Amino acid sequence: MKRKSLNDITVKGKRVFLRVDFNVPLDDQQEITDDTRIKASLPTLRHLMGEGAKIVCASHLGRPKGEEIPELSLKPVVERLSELLDQEVIFTGEITGPGIDSLKSQLKEGQIILLENLRFHPGETKNDPQLARELAKDIDIYINDAFGACHRAHASIQKITELVPVAAAGYLLQKEIDFLGMATENPPQNYCVILGGAKVSDKIPVITNLLDKAQKILIGGAMAYTFLKAKNENVGSSRVETDFIATCNDILKKAEEKQVKLLLPIDHVAAIKIEPEVTIRMIKKGKEIPGNMMGLDIGFDTIDLYKKELADAELIVWNGPMGVFEIENFAAGTEEIAKAVAESSATTIVGGGDSVAAVHKAGVAEKITHISTGGGASLEFLAGEKLPGIESLSES
Ligand code: ADP
Ligand code: MG
Repeated sequence: MKRKSLNDITVKGKRVFLRVDFNVPLDDQQEITDDTRIKASLPTLRHLMGEGAKIVCASHLGRPKGEEIPELSLKPVVERLSELLDQEVIFTGEITGPGIDSLKSQLKEGQIILLENLRFHPGETKNDPQLARELAKDIDIYINDAFGACHRAHASIQKITELVPVAAAGYLLQKEIDFLGMATENPPQNYCVILGGAKVSDKIPVITNLLDKAQKILIGGAMAYTFLKAKNENVGSSRVETDFIATCNDILKKAEEKQVKLLLPIDHVAAIKIEPEVTIRMIKKGKEIPGNMMGLDIGFDTIDLYKKELADAELIVWNGPMGVFEIENFAAGTEEIAKAVAESSATTIVGGGDSVAAVHKAGVAEKITHISTGGGASLEFLAGEKLPGIESLSES
């Protein structure tokens, strides 16, 4: 059956369970250091409030592993959420039980309760039917807006959908599905994928899936070195995943067969260690990286080459920084590619925690068509895997 979305259903006077992703970073004083994820849930929340739904909102935070860890309470989130909505959000520090049940039954239209961190309950990550049943109790409509958790078959993501009368996608989730769906099903003819980041092994499923869809794949970051090694290039002491050299060779062959233009860096910024003050060396095209040095960023010729390849793209999907962008000396590649993506007239999609951070650091986030809120979830989506949280919305 087709998946329902928020605009397909009437929520007035209905008790709605809204699963969001409030898994925000906290510092050691439990202060929220980045509230992007809370803000991302506001369109759905405001819609539900405006339409007169009675809202039970729930999220996980961190990995408390079934135990009540005070440092991982959603209390700081409630405060921020109330400020952002300019409305009180009820919070009792409980997930289930008679207190929550009676609050649920007394909810007025437009009111919101936030449950405590779902992962304080051991049943959440076990997809436990008992917990799901308690969460679903007296609920008329289930809305999933927690894209970042959709790759997990957890009680509030998967099992609950079997126990509610109606289940649908919220605005945030729908937007993720629309954009990432464009990247994986029927993309436009000139489709360019940029992949980078720390580990080639993380990204192999994505490359493999997108080899069938994209015209160009531009590779940077540490993952480039396993590919270069596979091509028998000297990569010095760059990060290479030896176990994946053969896989990289296969991918290079497949790219050739399918006439996908798979490009690797032609020059590098190298150093003997990953440190801010270390001396850097530019390794020019055709030169080898010395044995004691690591490639830590793409060089200027690679930047130029990649920019040219991006120029006529209609769709650009980017996951993974081009270098160790956290350190200024190795940040230019990522920054220049971020700017090129932002200035492109293509539909642009950026996913991955560090890539999103890099786009913000470069100051171009506003110019990206879609910034995915899910790290692991967006990688699995791009790899063509079925996400339990999304699949279960279609079934119900
Ligand atoms: P994302 O979170 O966007 O999916 P990853 O987690 O895969 O990205 O990779 C990001 C990390 O990769 C960054 O911490 C960055 O420092 C590291 N990285 C990028 N290029 C290199 C490189 N050449 N050598 C070592 N680490 C690198
Ligand atoms: Mg990362």
